[in-house]
Amino acid sequence: MSVELLSPAGNFQKLKSAIDFGADAVYLSGKSFGLRAQAGNFSLEEMDEAFKYLHSKGKKGYVTVNIYARNYDFKDLKNYLHELKEINPDGIIISDLGIFKLIRDEKIDIPVHISTQANTTNYYAINMWKELGAKRVVLARELSRDEIREVCENTDMEIEVFVHGAMCISHSGRCVLSNYMTKRDANRGECTHPCRWNYYLMEETRPGEYFPIFEDERGTYIYNSKDLCLLRYIGDLIDMGVKSFKIEGRMKSIMYVSVVTGVYRKVIDDLSAGRTPDYEYLQNLLNSVSNREYTTGFYTGFADETSMNYKTSSYVRNTDFLGVVKESDGGKVIFECKGKINSGETLHILDKNLVEQEIIFDKILDLNGERVEFTKPNRDYILDCGINFQKGSLIRRYKV
Ligand code: SF4
Repeated sequence: MSVELLSPAGNFQKLKSAIDFGADAVYLSGKSFGLRAQAGNFSLEEMDEAFKYLHSKGKKGYVTVNIYARNYDFKDLKNYLHELKEINPDGIIISDLGIFKLIRDEKIDIPVHISTQANTTNYYAINMWKELGAKRVVLARELSRDEIREVCENTDMEIEVFVHGAMCISHSGRCVLSNYMTKRDANRGECTHPCRWNYYLMEETRPGEYFPIFEDERGTYIYNSKDLCLLRYIGDLIDMGVKSFKIEGRMKSIMYVSVVTGVYRKVIDDLSAGRTPDYEYLQNLLNSVSNREYTTGFYTGFADETSMNYKTSSYVRNTDFLGVVKESDGGKVIFECKGKINSGETLHILDKNLVEQEIIFDKILDLNGERVEFTKPNRDYILDCGINFQKGSLIRRYKV
């Protein structure tokens, strides 16, 4: 069975980047009922356009409707599901049994995927979802390698596994920290990520006196999980029969989506062709995009203190994202600028095959052909460098 690389699409541009860098499918959300209220997300018209684009390229797309719904949601949900049906997505990702019932009652003919948010941790539950008519289950991120193997041996359901991205401190998403601290419900797409904040201890008769829980000049991050990275275990998971490999991150940047998708594409292709992936090179590429340091989470055992980042809640990355190539011909590269570039700088351009070249940006022109000394974000420029680059290639600056 061929496997699927499934990438996040926070908006149309990120969707195109994911496809350019090798995703077989993307998941995205409409403006409501998904779990990333802060992501760009898609209007119905945008979704329609997105699915036409995906299908024209032979790719798939799944829509997240994975909130835990309240009674008052169902009237709008009913209309929304019928509207989605017209758009022809390849799957709908849900968590709530009530939404599943509505899909069946309304005869919405879209394959149903059970979200990781539903916390499916065993094959009895998976086989029950199958009896109910689901097509795929996204496993809870808290399962170990042995548990995933046992699941695969005991079901013929399509299994999807998260292989890369942010983790929750609670069982995937079943968390009320955000509700409790900011009155914003993580189970309705409004998480404010309080698990990443600094915490101190305060004795109740000494208001304003904050005691560090773990000594550090900026406080402590007692809930802050490192990001999941199963790069070196993709071969294992393919052998077990996992169908789909999911990358988290609908709120992440174009550079993140492109690089992470490209890295996992390369691993899957290398393994399928019997080649040994260059894990060191690929890991360095993963280190070059935003991350909170990496962990294998529960995959190689119980998550413990080594799975957490107590030092900082900030993302780390060793590159800045400066632009995307839009066209290239005759040694002239038209690019969309995403960050200031000074004329004369030595930068890197990473193409879809993950080949990175060092280029001196000494002749940058505006679209009128006038030379510029520096670029401004969100404008298009021409780099006259005598080399052509693939559309979608990323312009990056390594931090020294
Ligand atoms: S606060 Fe953190 S652990 Fe809780 S739902 Fe949000 S991201 Fe997940």
